[in-house]
Amino acid sequence: VRNFFSPLQEVAFFLNSYQSATAALEKVSGVLEEEPTVPDPTDPVDLWTAKGHVRFDDVTFGYSDDRVTLPHFSLDLPAGQTVALVGTTGAGKSTLAKLVSRFYDPSKGAVTLDDVDLRRLHPKDLRRAIVMVTQEAYLFSGTVADNIALGKPDATMDEIRAAARAVGADAFISKLPDGYDTDVNKRGGRVSAGQRQLISFARAFLADPAVLILDEATASLDIPSERQIQNALQTLLADRTAIIIAHRLSTVAIADRVLVMEHGRIIEDDTPAALIAGTGKFAQLHAAWRESLV
Ligand code: ATP
Repeated sequence: VRNFFSPLQEVAFFLNSYQSATAALEKVSGVLEEEPTVPDPTDPVDLWTAKGHVRFDDVTFGYSDDRVTLPHFSLDLPAGQTVALVGTTGAGKSTLAKLVSRFYDPSKGAVTLDDVDLRRLHPKDLRRAIVMVTQEAYLFSGTVADNIALGKPDATMDEIRAAARAVGADAFISKLPDGYDTDVNKRGGRVSAGQRQLISFARAFLADPAVLILDEATASLDIPSERQIQNALQTLLADRTAIIIAHRLSTVAIADRVLVMEHGRIIEDDTPAALIAGTGKFAQLHAAWRESLV
């Protein structure tokens, strides 16, 4: 059962550098992350406002030539849908997420946004339209405001505050010693795991992408902040396409659709209620999970 959920990992609150302005990241953290190696388009499509319709069109992808991770993978995510990805470790959830954020290109088939092959998007447009929030631990030097502003490097203080308010982070930030100017560098110091998550949500909210990919944090939270995170998530997910690598049943419950993955394939695809009522893998995992909570 425990395998169903990823091992406990540290919460972090940053967008990957390929999702956010590299300059801003350098400024804030002084650390550069791995950059994607995919080529820029020779003939990029014109700038447009993405609606967020994501499609995998018979995608085959492997990290090496001799091992296919996603074989003939097709998936249609209408704009605005919230999709929870679940499955045992190694099932391919992160790989799917990385293909949507074009960290890699498929070897066959295409991933499209509003029917445009991601390979034809200007990197700048892609980064604005599709944002991934991961939970990898990362140390930032910088203030709370800097950390939120990574979502939109030219954001004003008013916009930063508005984003924090939207996800319910403003109250705790205002109580920090220096408010928005508090340095969050001291990990595990002033800012709790739940609060760090809220800061990352504020950042994503400020970035306001058409497609949000969220690798949900697995750190355990106390009940009030768990509730706060769920409320913030609902705000964050509204009016955009969201793909969540879900580690919490409470998150799966708010999804429009749950995809259960195994060996690079989708083995179940339905609403959470329908899957729980059924007799499939998700229903079993759900039952086992509930028992373990008793
Ligand atoms: P987890 O819940 O543990 O994060 P996951 O469902 O996200 O698992 P992926 O990380 O997508 O699974 O991994 C799918 C397969 O691809 C696994 O067999 C994994 O070992 C392999 N894999 C993932 N990343 C890489 C990489 N960078 N290089 C080579 N193989 C990789």
